[in-house]
Amino acid sequence: MGSKHNFICPSCEYESGLVSGQPDSGMMVAVDTMVCQDCQSVVDVVVQIFLDEYAAEIDLNCCPDCRGTRVSPWPSQHPCPKCQEPMVQDSLSPEMLWD
Ligand SMILES: [Zn+2]
Ligand SMILES: [Zn+2]
Repeated sequence: MGSKHNFICPSCEYESGLVSGQPDSGMMVAVDTMVCQDCQSVVDVVVQIFLDEYAAEIDLNCCPDCRGTRVSPWPSQHPCPKCQEPMVQDSLSPEMLWD
């Protein structure tokens, strides 16, 4: 599993919490970071399950918070789901060392 990051909106101070920010996969599931239209939040959505025993328990392509399916891939500009301003990675994130 790759690393996760916290994204912060400089305009309205919404924080995504820890999300991949991109498609990612681990041993059991593959996730993609999406925007839930209902929660207006950035969430990691399970898009694929590799183990059959998990398939019955986990719904694919739905918001982990509200179980809704009105999710769409988060554009690469990382717009804030609340105010559409580009969000930035939390400065505590190790990836910022490369900037
Ligand atoms: Zn915002
Ligand atoms: Zn939701």
